[in-house]
Amino acid sequence: MNDRLEAIILRVDPYKETDGLLQVLGKEHGKMTILAKGILKGSSKNAASVQPITHCDMVLDIKEPISLLHSASIIDFYRFIKEDITRLSVASLICEIAMQVSTPYQPDEYLYDITKESLAAFKSYPPILIGCLYVSLILKEMGISPMVDGCVVCDETKVSAISISEGGFVCLRCAKNVTSKAYDASFSRLFRYTVKAQWTNISALAKQGEFTLDLLAVFVDFFKDYTSIPLKSWEFLRKL
Ligand SMILES: [Zn+2]
Repeated sequence: MNDRLEAIILRVDPYKETDGLLQVLGKEHGKMTILAKGILKGSSKNAASVQPITHCDMVLDIKEPISLLHSASIIDFYRFIKEDITRLSVASLICEIAMQVSTPYQPDEYLYDITKESLAAFKSYPPILIGCLYVSLILKEMGISPMVDGCVVCDETKVSAISISEGGFVCLRCAKNVTSKAYDASFSRLFRYTVKAQWTNISALAKQGEFTLDLLAVFVDFFKDYTSIPLKSWEFLRKL
C-alpha cells in the first residue's frame, strides 16, 4: 500500500474544497494523476512540497487512474526558477510539453531524464536556450525533427528561409512557392546547431550565439503544427 515514487510535479489543480490533483512525471510509471488530500488547507504538512515544478520523493498508494498521496518531501524546489519570470515561464512550457507528450502509466525514461536535466540546467544556462533545446529534443524523439541539411523541397544547399509546413529549410526559389519565413544567416545557423544537438551538447551550444524568443517560437511552431497541441504557457511566454 505504501508505494514510493520519485517524481517531478508538472501541474497542480485545485480539487473539491481543499484537495489538489497533481500531474506528475515519474521515472518508473510515466505520467500519473495523484490526489493530494487537504493540501489547500494551511495546516497541511504536504502543502509546501506539492507545488508545480518541484522534484519530490513521495509515499503513496499507486492506483489507476488516480493514486493517493500520503506524504511528499522535496528533493529540489528549483528556487532559482521560481525567482525569475522568464525562467519560470520557460520551465512552465517544459512541464506543459512533458505533460502533453507523456502517456499515463507508461514509463519513458528518456523524457523523464531530459525534463529533470532541463529543470536543473536553469541554474547554469540561459532559459531560452534550455527551452529551444528541450523542444528540439522532443521533436527529435517524436520523429518530427526539422530538416536542416539543405532545402527540404529541392535539396539545394544554399537556404534562405524556414518553412514549418514543409518541415525545415527552403531555398530562395522554393520559398516563393511555400509558406515560409526568411531569417538571417546567424539565426539559421543557430537553428541548425540546436536541431543537431543532443542534451549533452548544451554547454557547446550555449557558446554558439544568443538564444532568442524568436528562435524558441520556431521550435514551438513546429511542435504545434505537427501535434496540433495548443500550449497555454507559450501564449504567456511570448508576451514577455
Ligand atoms: Zn529548394
